[in-house]
Amino acid sequence: METINSYNFAEKRAIVRVDFNVPINENYEITDDTRIRAALPTVRKILNSGGSVILMSHLGRPKDEYEEKFSLKHIVSHLSGLLELDVKFAEDCIGEQALNLAQGMKPGEVMLLENLRFHKEEKKGDEAFAKQLAGLADVYVNDAFGTAHRPHASTTIVANFFPKDKMFGYLIGKELHHMDKILEAPQKPFTAIMGGAKVSDKIPIIENLLNRVDNIIIGGGMTYTFIKATGGKIGTSLVEEDMLDVALEIVEKAKKKNISLYIPEDNVIADQFDNDARIDTCRSDEIPDNKMGLDIGEKTIKKFKEVIEQSKTILWNGPMGVFEMSNFQNGTKSIAEAIANATEKGAFSLIGGGDSVAAINKYNLANKVSYVSTGGGAMLEYMEGKGLPGIKAIRE
Ligand code: AMP
Repeated sequence: METINSYNFAEKRAIVRVDFNVPINENYEITDDTRIRAALPTVRKILNSGGSVILMSHLGRPKDEYEEKFSLKHIVSHLSGLLELDVKFAEDCIGEQALNLAQGMKPGEVMLLENLRFHKEEKKGDEAFAKQLAGLADVYVNDAFGTAHRPHASTTIVANFFPKDKMFGYLIGKELHHMDKILEAPQKPFTAIMGGAKVSDKIPIIENLLNRVDNIIIGGGMTYTFIKATGGKIGTSLVEEDMLDVALEIVEKAKKKNISLYIPEDNVIADQFDNDARIDTCRSDEIPDNKMGLDIGEKTIKKFKEVIEQSKTILWNGPMGVFEMSNFQNGTKSIAEAIANATEKGAFSLIGGGDSVAAINKYNLANKVSYVSTGGGAMLEYMEGKGLPGIKAIRE
């Protein structure tokens, strides 16, 4: 398989799928350019190796046609500034203008294509559309991890037109490296921390991890489905009734496999889903009828910290409580700190999934953990053991 480091880009036009799905305000200013900056190493590598770069991305969720607010033209000048060169812009990602511009490109030049999702064919994974994209270039590079679990034209189908000349960019390469490290050869003890609201979202990943981990820590809204399944009283806490059996199965499987499953023993409870609600703590299986659990309690935090700080590999997905509200953030914050401490002592820690990433950033700990994954859904699916279409399209 080709890699971005080994491939000879000289005189070649590379079409690179990036994730430029950045937040843009009503004045069309980019309010956070992290994703654009993240793509630069790949772009620079190709340019420095004598190639030219055609960038393609989606932005927002347009309704299959042109919408001013989702035009990628709004990022051209910012991108030009970052790369210190004049980025060309094709007003449609396919068609005559894009083709003419592409054919006229010289080594060292960069062009950006208009939003792929202005064509419904992109999300449909349309072959003819993918072929037109492929016709713009000599080589395909996928560097958009966040969409690698989608079989879209630009993320997956287009790769078929480059049987040999296809590869991952640095960003996807990094994501895969870190996730494979955890899936293939984790240092023990390996602890997975799962939180967030919905059990149903996390079941497949927990199932896959049951073959790999030593400890599973459960927190967040998911807790109460487990507590109820094992006979506890959960008051008005979040619960997924149709997941009770599945939760019980996980408890049983963990037992059989000798995995320690840690479910919170105490909770911060409130009479309403409100930061100013009346707050109390109690055992997780004795929540009064009119109260709901919104964070893990002190005893639980102490126990979880112990487990985390003795771990050598840590995967964290999902907050321990309603961390967006200051009175219910203690659990999430403490767990984030424990992960940072373990990392300092030599553990490898991977944080993934929208809300745990938001949490780790909120507590300024992103640079105290080993790796923060950029692709929420894609990361979850990869950790579930599923082959992602965008990854398979390059590897196979
Ligand atoms: P998810 O997207 O499934 O990872 O869920 C993240 C959300 O779960 C966050 O917005 C949290 O506020 C929420 N959450 C965490 N703990 C609880 C809880 N005990 N009750 C209700 N929501 C919670």
